[in-house]
Amino acid sequence: MTVNSNCRICKSNNLLPVIDLGKQPLANAFLRADELDNPEQRFPLVVYLCANCNLAQLVHVVSKELLFSDYIYFSSGMPRLSDHFKKYAEDVINKFLKTPGDFVVEMGSNDGILLQFFKEKKFRVLGVDPAKNIAMIAQTRGVPTVADFFSSALAEDIVQKHGKAKAILGNNVVAHINDYDDLCAGVKTLLSPDGVFVFEAPYLADMFENLAFDTIYHEHLSYLSVRPLKYLFAKFGLEIFDVKIVQAQGQSIRVFVGHKGAHSLGSGVEQCADKEIALGLNNPDAYRVLCKKISQTKNDVVNTLKRLKNQQKRLAAYGAPAKGNTVLNYYNIGTDLLDFALDDLPSKQGLYTPGARLPVVARSFALEHAPQYYFLLAWNYLPVILEKEKDFLRGGGAFILPTGNIIRESVLN
Ligand SMILES: [Zn+2]
Repeated sequence: MTVNSNCRICKSNNLLPVIDLGKQPLANAFLRADELDNPEQRFPLVVYLCANCNLAQLVHVVSKELLFSDYIYFSSGMPRLSDHFKKYAEDVINKFLKTPGDFVVEMGSNDGILLQFFKEKKFRVLGVDPAKNIAMIAQTRGVPTVADFFSSALAEDIVQKHGKAKAILGNNVVAHINDYDDLCAGVKTLLSPDGVFVFEAPYLADMFENLAFDTIYHEHLSYLSVRPLKYLFAKFGLEIFDVKIVQAQGQSIRVFVGHKGAHSLGSGVEQCADKEIALGLNNPDAYRVLCKKISQTKNDVVNTLKRLKNQQKRLAAYGAPAKGNTVLNYYNIGTDLLDFALDDLPSKQGLYTPGARLPVVARSFALEHAPQYYFLLAWNYLPVILEKEKDFLRGGGAFILPTGNIIRESVLN
């Protein structure tokens, strides 16, 4: 682990700790049964606010090789992501890609789920993803993928081999990057004069509006908002020319970046900037209020779970997403309250959640040991889950959200 003493964007050392979630294990470091006797590595999980450019960020940076080289998250295993990416691809193609053969590069391309839609439409595609296990899967589905981190050096290499890119894509990857100067230098090199860099990332505003503090884990080095990003790209002669707020696993921003002056400016940038000031994303006091809310919610939820447990109710977690581990570990909930975590991803089944150490089980096990209450960790997929679990709700079961909301059968009517 390294500790940054300067802001990732503006290099100011005026960084204020604003959200402290204590020391936590890595959110994707699921444990095998034979690892349960060993202590887990824990790292500080504290969000700092830059007083100068207002980027919210972690300064404790766990090595990216430790985080991403053998990654457990497969995009194609996520419900509805395929639909989301299909629409996303159509949107980018209709707006920015005119000629078949145009070159599209995606950083953090995972198993190729997004690029395959571009490939189907006869665009040239190249994925970049450091997880070798996942890059292999992309290759087998016909999406050429470099198993590496995106960098300015790699960008130069790509330009030499394939030419400049008409579109560079990055989904849930920009928040993971520590060296923003190198990212921007790489984009600047790789992007054709009229090209577009489109990326999607969780929006910091979601934390304030919906208490989505579970986006905080070590992989997410920055909690992005538009004002600091605008400052970042301007440093490199690039420009955010539009922003869209999209509902994708919670509230995300889709940011459109081009060379300065290459695209006409949309209204999204100013709208987001206004919203960010109104919410106080630049103001330490607003974070103090947020922290109070989070800690109050923790007390309420834990009390509710304890009360139900005392009434001999069976409780379990629904989903074992990375973000759920932030909730479990910050709330300090373990097998004392929850029997297991149900997750449909085979790659997680048979493992134990980091910190809380809930056994991750398949649906067949969960049906045999059905709880009366599920603590819903994958709450960003709520509509899909309610649709899927009608029988559970009709049978009298209920979901408890990390925010404390309880969802019962009545929601179906
Ligand atoms: Zn800064």
